[in-house]
Amino acid sequence: MIKTISYLGLGTMGSGMASNLLKAGYKLTVWNRSAEKCEPFTRKGARVAESPADAVRDVDLVMYSLSNDQAVEEVVFGAKGILSGINEGQIAIDMSTVLPATSLREQEAYTKRGVDFLDAPVFGSKQESAEAKLWIMAAGKRDAFEKVKPVLEHLGQTVHYFGKNGNAAAMKLVGNLIVALEMEALAEGLVLAQKAGLDLNTVMEVLKVADFRSPLLVSNGQNILKRDFSPSFALKLMLKDAGLIEKFAESLESPIPALRVAEKNLASAVALGFGNENASALIKALEDEAGTEVKALNRQL
Ligand code: NAP
Repeated sequence: MIKTISYLGLGTMGSGMASNLLKAGYKLTVWNRSAEKCEPFTRKGARVAESPADAVRDVDLVMYSLSNDQAVEEVVFGAKGILSGINEGQIAIDMSTVLPATSLREQEAYTKRGVDFLDAPVFGSKQESAEAKLWIMAAGKRDAFEKVKPVLEHLGQTVHYFGKNGNAAAMKLVGNLIVALEMEALAEGLVLAQKAGLDLNTVMEVLKVADFRSPLLVSNGQNILKRDFSPSFALKLMLKDAGLIEKFAESLESPIPALRVAEKNLASAVALGFGNENASALIKALEDEAGTEVKALNRQL
């Protein structure tokens, strides 16, 4: 049974998950590149490690949520990285959104150390992470999955097993392809509604009830109308994911024409300086092109 856990990467997603592991009663060690993000966890009784290699000493399970493939490369494979400290019998879980090929590379390296590895990326954002309501996918050896499932259940509302390593990472890219297109559709739709002179509050009322409704359209639509772009899922991360989806789809010769359009608009919004805002700031690229700003007259949404 898993009792001791290390969590590495205390960003938007990792900090919520690490807090919930403490709440669930696990003995926790934390590590983050910028050490100040560890402070709230020290106060709650976690041990703060000096390096990834130090963090993974003497724990049953190592989990991490890092920005991108490059960060995983550094934290897992780098000097004082996880691989230089981890030992046979431990289990590692990568919860970052990365290429399936990166998950396979991790699996190969961990296997050489006698360590079981799962790729387990998540759907949901800042709020779902904080409230342990994530939708989690996991892939790797079934018996390793069964061992860590009770831990994952403390972090999410659903946990789906996807079979061999790389498959959960692939599912995450499939999902984020759909998310990117929903964001693009919302942005194009709201700019058109604004140009057409529609009452945007009423537009949102329709988006809440119509048969194409989705929680993602509603929450992002409302925030756009309030001009609230505080990040739950940063625009620059959505652009990073679009790049991963493109690479992955190309490797399988799977067509992604609409994703390419969304990616172009994501890149334009980042180039305009909005990369650290929420992914819904994608709309700012279209607003710039349209010479308008989507805004509700009455902000009581
Ligand atoms: P974030 O808030 O930007 O946090 C990123 C984390 O990665 C931070 O702890 C950061 O450390 C660390 N990091 C970045 N580069 C590093 C490097 N070279 N070496 C060591 N650590 C490094 O991102 P997030 O929103 O939590 O996302 C984390 C992962 O989950 C990403 O793969 C993202 O695509 C995915 N995801 C995010 C969401 C979301 O809604 N936010 C939803 C689903 C999945 P510092 O604090 O030092 O910068």
